[in-house]
Amino acid sequence: MGKPTGFKEFDRKKVPWRLPVVRINDYQEIYTEPKEELLREQGARCMDCGVPFCQSSSGCPIDNLIPEWNDLVYNGRWEDAIQRLHKTNNFPEFTGRVCPAPCEGSCVLGITNPPVTIKNIENAIVDRAWQEGWIKPEPPNARTGKKVAIIGSGPAGLAAADQLNRAGHLVTVFERASRIGGLLMYGIPNMKLDKNQVARRVEKMTAEGVTFKTNANVGVDIDPKDLQKDFDAVLLSTGATKPRDLPIPGRDLKGVHFAMDYLTGNTKKVLDKTDTAEFINSEGKDVIVIGGGDTGTDCIGTSIRHGCKSMVNFELLPQPPEERAPDNPWPEWPRVFRTDYGHEEAAAKFGKDPRTYCILSKEFIDDGQGNLSGIRTVGVEWTKKPDGGWAMSEIEGSEKVWPAQRVYLAMGFLGPEQYLVESMGFETDNRSNYKAEHGKFTTSIEGVFAAGDCRRGQSLVVWAINEGRGAARAIDIFLQGSSVLPAPGTTMGTELSAT
Ligand SMILES: Cc1cc2nc3c(=O)[nH]c(=O)nc-3n(C[C@H](O)[C@H](O)[C@H](O)COP(=O)(O)OP(=O)(O)OC[C@H]3O[C@@H](n4cnc5c(N)ncnc54)[C@H](O)[C@@H]3O)c2cc1C
Ligand code: SF4
Repeated sequence: MGKPTGFKEFDRKKVPWRLPVVRINDYQEIYTEPKEELLREQGARCMDCGVPFCQSSSGCPIDNLIPEWNDLVYNGRWEDAIQRLHKTNNFPEFTGRVCPAPCEGSCVLGITNPPVTIKNIENAIVDRAWQEGWIKPEPPNARTGKKVAIIGSGPAGLAAADQLNRAGHLVTVFERASRIGGLLMYGIPNMKLDKNQVARRVEKMTAEGVTFKTNANVGVDIDPKDLQKDFDAVLLSTGATKPRDLPIPGRDLKGVHFAMDYLTGNTKKVLDKTDTAEFINSEGKDVIVIGGGDTGTDCIGTSIRHGCKSMVNFELLPQPPEERAPDNPWPEWPRVFRTDYGHEEAAAKFGKDPRTYCILSKEFIDDGQGNLSGIRTVGVEWTKKPDGGWAMSEIEGSEKVWPAQRVYLAMGFLGPEQYLVESMGFETDNRSNYKAEHGKFTTSIEGVFAAGDCRRGQSLVVWAINEGRGAARAIDIFLQGSSVLPAPGTTMGTELSAT
């Protein structure tokens, strides 16, 4: 423990984001360079708890050794800190930027005071390690002669590839998109996670011996049966990419898009620096984003950067409370009202938070030429049922028409696409996810494993890393009979999802 009185001396202070009015003019990351003194003070606030809830129970899904690196940062031992961090997390620069930080939600200090800024500290450790040149390719000393195919290059596939390569197996990652990274590349926008961060890890893993194949759609361009023949094991890490639709009248009008189509087209334009057929422009448009979560926020931030004329965000549920409700005690994830970067930016541009709650979309309105011109909605209220569940009812007389030439649907995902299920014939669960038990990760076909969102449903980057690491260990045991790879946290904690 760095400073026994630190938690009494110092307040929580986060590393600030760039000013909204400035950052909306570009796609650079929203973060600022942290001051070392600030991070050391935050490290000093850590109480090195006997039971560190931050790294266990409902806290960090990959069991990050948080009190250890808090102490190392307080004592200025940054190189030791990155070694500790890499023991449990292959990609701290991803989680340090995008994780909602369940660790902070369960930090013991949070019972009486605002928690330690764990996420800021994690990010600073890894950024410094890259700057100092401490992170270098480390190819394995020996090869086992076994070959593993990984289908899908999101954080689950990448974490598994990194671990399996360390264990000496020859790994090939097949990705149907034009770039590696899954939702790290074409979901989460550049201002939240710079794509060079992803490319840099891919470069390091390539230098360590991992092979990446892009534009390789298994089940379309490549017969999965060939992979089963040519490789000793196959990992499915294809994500949960089937979006939830809103099949109300007018759904086919021009201007209504799935969030992922919008975000993917935008990132391609940012990276390729040229317009593509996939690019959807919000410039000068009244934009409505339907659905919240990270996907909704990303659509808001992107539309603001396009120069939209107005911005509204519909939420079907009521506004969460400012403080934890009695049925949501510590160390559970706090289900409270949060203002994310996109909301802040919309408020800076238009003078108010874009979110409107308890609203149900009834119809997309046609301008007479097949284009979207607005949405008709009704207000709803939620009442508790005798069985404890909630019932939604429409409020009479609350109909309203909102102008909109662009609508982005960000209402979550319905599991993985099913074409690999059909061609390979493995079992799915009752939510259409690939069926495999957490910890074992084996599907109903011997030698075929599943990890990440395709197994658990749309979740978080940190859970994808947990599953990729766990699946790598399971595959190593399948191939070698035993494994020195660590088993990541199996605590199933509070289920959070970025929708
Ligand atoms: C817009 C958006 C924003 C998000 N923001 C956050 C956030 O801020 N924080 C957070 O923690 N989580 C966030 N998430 C959730 C997070 O990104 C996912 O939980 C995580 O990426 C899942 O990782 P994965 O590896 O399982 O799958 P994915 O990242 O979805 O990767 C799967 C990959 O498999 C590829 N693939 C699929 N089928 C095939 C095939 N047949 N052949 C070859 N390749 C295939 C896909 O193209 C994709 O690249 C967000 C999600 C979205 C949609
Ligand atoms: S729970 Fe909070 S105070 Fe306790 S060890 Fe973890 S970060 Fe430190």
